[in-house]
Amino acid sequence: MSKIILKPGRDKSLLRRHPWIFSGAVERVEGEPVSGGTVDLLAPNGGFLARAAYSPISQIRARVWTFDPDEIVDANFFRKKIRDSIKIRQMSKVEGQSNAYRLIHAESDGLPGLIVDRYGDTLVFQSLTTGCEFWKETLADLLLEETGLKNIYERSDADVRELEGLGSKTGILRGENYDLRFTIYEHDLQFRIDLARGHKTGFYLDQRDNRLRVRELSKDRDVLDCFSYTGGFSLNALAGAAKSVLSVDSSADALELCKQNVALNNLPADRHTNLEGDVFQLLRKFRDEARSFDMIILDPPKFAPTVAQAEKASRAYKDINLLAFKLLRPNGILVTFSCSGGIDAGLFQKIVASAALDAGVDARIVGHMAQAADHPIALNFPEGAYLKGLICIRN
Ligand code: SAH
Repeated sequence: MSKIILKPGRDKSLLRRHPWIFSGAVERVEGEPVSGGTVDLLAPNGGFLARAAYSPISQIRARVWTFDPDEIVDANFFRKKIRDSIKIRQMSKVEGQSNAYRLIHAESDGLPGLIVDRYGDTLVFQSLTTGCEFWKETLADLLLEETGLKNIYERSDADVRELEGLGSKTGILRGENYDLRFTIYEHDLQFRIDLARGHKTGFYLDQRDNRLRVRELSKDRDVLDCFSYTGGFSLNALAGAAKSVLSVDSSADALELCKQNVALNNLPADRHTNLEGDVFQLLRKFRDEARSFDMIILDPPKFAPTVAQAEKASRAYKDINLLAFKLLRPNGILVTFSCSGGIDAGLFQKIVASAALDAGVDARIVGHMAQAADHPIALNFPEGAYLKGLICIRN
């Protein structure tokens, strides 16, 4: 097996069981590891640290499969990991809430770079790293064996693949002649899914619990759902007897599905309006028109995938939160999120606090939100805690 010998003192993160080794920590590579192949990570004195997937181009040069020197990385290894992930979903009771949920959450399930989401009887496979590319066919076979399902659709089209030197890849990975458009349920609501064209793997599964929170709080309120996508929050607000719901998104396709979803669930279409546009501009327009709302949801896309973009992203978060506070009526509720890995919960709260200050509004946090249980956070991989949200009530 090829070996990577680390520079002195650069084994600290591995000793804390963090699964990444950056290129700068590498003293030398022995042997000729192939892209995605398995290598041993050794301390300068030759002591075993971990067994990992090699990534020749990425800044993250290796991602750990196992810290156990006796564990072989083979099909059996992956079978155990997949079984374990399935078991955790059963134990955390995700399965009863929806037939769409994340089965494997990459590093947080001990499988760096691998995302597998289940939508009814179809799995969606997303490989983000060379290691997952290397093992793709094995992983696909094992996933079918362990779930008893037949269909896997690949959505390996996330931008981060470029950092690994990988192009985009989508299409049927296993099974044939199955529908890529169908309906899933989340709690008692149904949503249309388009596996081939939807964002991420089709649906924002991580917001499941938070959508229910919105439902509980929306009765008799005029709700503005910013970055609404196919209506995850909008439908829950309608189901919670909101007085009106305005869904804003820049994607016409997403809004069309949102409209279909309102009809599919027999929710009152006369209380719902779609508006296509840029949230940054529309919030300004609403401010200039002195419009106001009783509840505003801000669920923007990732502004800061990494810490490097945190400053620019902070300004964007502050901008929309400030405008939202200005549009909130007294006792109005702001439900605000960040899914940026580069912005932690503490920083996000500071941004929201400074937005309220500059808007001249006093508000209190009455709820902290995070990603649902099918997106677990491994304690040795704090980066896995990417979604954070606050519920604030203004005075
Ligand atoms: N709240 C949604 C998920 C939101 S994902 C749910 O629960 O399912 C982010 C959405 O923001 C995407 O639908 C994307 O089309 C939209 N978007 C991205 N930038 C935007 C912008 N500047 N203005 C409006 N919508 C935007």
